[in-house]
Amino acid sequence: MSRIAHEMRHEFADAAWQERHAVTRVDQLREWMGVDTDGSLMRDIQLGLARAPMAMRITPYLLNLIDWSNFLQDPIRKQFIPVGSEILPSHPLLKMDSLHERESSPVDGLVHRYQDKALLLATDRCPVYCRFCTRSYSVGLDTQSVSKKRASPFQMRWDTILAYLRATPVIVDVVVSGGDCFRLKPSRLLAVGMGLLSIPSIRRIRFATKGLAVLPMKVTSDHEWTDALVNISDAGRNQGVEISFHTHFNHPGEITDYTIAAAELLFKRGIRMRNQSVLLAGVNDDPEVMKQLVKKLSDLDVQPYYVYTCDLVDGIEHMRCSVRLACQIEKALRGITAGYNTPLFVVDTPGGGGKRDVHSFEHYDRQTGLAVYQAPSVRPDQLFTYPDPLQSLSPDAQAAWLDPQRAKRILSDAVEAARVKSMAV
Ligand code: SF4
Repeated sequence: MSRIAHEMRHEFADAAWQERHAVTRVDQLREWMGVDTDGSLMRDIQLGLARAPMAMRITPYLLNLIDWSNFLQDPIRKQFIPVGSEILPSHPLLKMDSLHERESSPVDGLVHRYQDKALLLATDRCPVYCRFCTRSYSVGLDTQSVSKKRASPFQMRWDTILAYLRATPVIVDVVVSGGDCFRLKPSRLLAVGMGLLSIPSIRRIRFATKGLAVLPMKVTSDHEWTDALVNISDAGRNQGVEISFHTHFNHPGEITDYTIAAAELLFKRGIRMRNQSVLLAGVNDDPEVMKQLVKKLSDLDVQPYYVYTCDLVDGIEHMRCSVRLACQIEKALRGITAGYNTPLFVVDTPGGGGKRDVHSFEHYDRQTGLAVYQAPSVRPDQLFTYPDPLQSLSPDAQAAWLDPQRAKRILSDAVEAARVKSMAV
């Protein structure tokens, strides 16, 4: 049953109201859950928050989508509210900043890993905080377990970023992410978009955001912000630069009448939209759920573009899925709709190899759960490994990973097998 009273509906459609009423503390969450909430569940949430690398921030809109009678199993709850009892020990290969973004940052707030593409970290704030965030090392508020690595204030680094982009004309494609551009003021959004458009070598600009999935009323109620986005898009079109909006929906239940209204508005105003999902256990690790998501996104004119296997992030081992399962779901999806609306399943390889098609491993040992990938156009001399979650392996394989000597051997055997295979091709 909806927990939003009838008289609140007008405010509910207002993004500013949603932001003001975002739940960030356990006592606020208890209010939502009701006074009769089981005390042990609240303690479990507190334990989860103590161990989570991401602070809690969740909008009333999202809270209203949770099935509170099935709280622990709910696919939206799982993404935003941790409970201690579900957290499993991390895989031994886990490192914070698993994608090595900071090593690939020539200037503060800009990641330049692929030859012709750069990632601009425009803010470290989001409308909500996802438990599985890759940038848990820097996004959101400090938690009990993680002190975030802060970039310098945007205004201080913006000129340096623009100077680097101007001096590096090989970069033709810029992804604006963070954090989330839904948290940028309209004036800042416009400054970022127009600043990038002032560099003649940049041909494509993408704004990556979870906002449409978690705060769609921003598009319909914050007219200044939406106008800023549309102005950037129109200016880009006039000078032959593609501006696109990359959304982040993970479950079909995240698509509501609010989402439909927002996506229709953006589509009518000429915004090109694509979606990037993360494959998450208990959320969308089921071919039927993923099929529904793909169909619904296609109907919203949001192209289902990527499904990522979940990065190695502390405290979310129970949410990761195996490479084998990712391959199975991808196979189940291919052919259900037009090819351009069928997402590519990718592994963003730990260590900085970038995104690889999940099927393209050089070697994959299903017993030890270790896949090895090459990234010839990114780091040609290196091999990159991605481990399945420990809980998907046999007890013996799990024990092997927990023994440093055996774990070392698993890694060296897999890398050797991949080398032999790649030399034979
Ligand atoms: S919205 Fe994106 S950047 Fe923000 S917490 Fe979620 S995954 Fe991380």
